[in-house]
Amino acid sequence: MQHKGQENAFSICSKPETSIAIRDRIDALIEKGSGKIAIGFGGNPKDKSAVRGGPAFELIFNIHNLLRKKKLRDNFDLTFFAPMESPGERMGPKSLQMIESMFKKYKITKHFGKKIKSFEPSGVVFDDDSVLKSELTLFIPASAGHIVLKNSDLPLTEAGLIKIDETCLVTGTNNIYAAGDIAAIEGPKWKAKQGHIAELMGRQAAYNIIMSETGSSIRKSYKEHLNILCIMDTGNGAAFVFRNDNWAFAIPMPGLGHWLKMGWGQYAKLTKRGIIPRFPGL
Ligand SMILES: Cc1cc2nc3c(=O)[nH]c(=O)nc-3n(C[C@H](O)[C@H](O)[C@H](O)COP(=O)(O)OP(=O)(O)OC[C@H]3O[C@@H](n4cnc5c(N)ncnc54)[C@H](O)[C@@H]3O)c2cc1C
Repeated sequence: MQHKGQENAFSICSKPETSIAIRDRIDALIEKGSGKIAIGFGGNPKDKSAVRGGPAFELIFNIHNLLRKKKLRDNFDLTFFAPMESPGERMGPKSLQMIESMFKKYKITKHFGKKIKSFEPSGVVFDDDSVLKSELTLFIPASAGHIVLKNSDLPLTEAGLIKIDETCLVTGTNNIYAAGDIAAIEGPKWKAKQGHIAELMGRQAAYNIIMSETGSSIRKSYKEHLNILCIMDTGNGAAFVFRNDNWAFAIPMPGLGHWLKMGWGQYAKLTKRGIIPRFPGL
């Protein structure tokens, strides 16, 4: 996110160099000894599965814990903003409850239910022209269809995502498959785009291509495997969040959870580069 003149507002989904700029801005505020930090995420009303709440929660809890470690937390205002009334509710009532109590415990102010209009050097401006003052704003936009898709003849949803069936076959075609964030997923109300769902869809699509090429009518669906699975790192621990059609729970993992998530990051990096083998199914 590089909106006009806002060296104070960054998207954490931007190019890698942005992470360095964010670190430098946090360091500068720590050096100053006080500040106002706002962290939030956007919604996509045309496809509610395309939101990224989890990483925004992780970010604010990590910054809280960093400031606490530096014994500066009381000098900072931390505010969480999102356009929906109840951000995080897709993770289920237990997770929502846990996040609520963490906001209260960590003295994080909530700013929910107002559409975001713009990011300015002074802070976040909302639809009603009210301003949330901030010296550093970190934001995760909701995802939408890739620009390349707009110029293609692929069938798209209103949100600009590729229409597929449950085998990942693109609607109206017999040999084009789409998997991951770029495809519109169908399923329960709480469905959300996540990394492991993208991988699952990729696997099912590959299987279905082989079946189709070998003349078999057997197909695998991604739909029955949909879930939300997330280890939400808080900097001093984590929360294990899970939701599917039958279960919705959140388990606090003080201490260990943080290292588990760090370990998972290393495992993902090393296995993706083929440096170490993957555990079957993981
Ligand atoms: C900040 C953040 C934190 C997240 N945390 C988690 C998490 O903890 N757990 C989880 O499960 N999910 C998480 N997600 C979601 C997860 O990252 C995505 O669901 C997942 O990466 C989707 O995979 P994908 O392969 O469909 O798309 P991507 O990972 O986005 O891959 C698409 C690739 O295509 C490339 N590309 C784009 N345009 C072109 C082009 N024109 N030509 C060639 N290549 C192109 C891109 O560079 C990219 O490498 C997070 C997302 C964000 C933004």
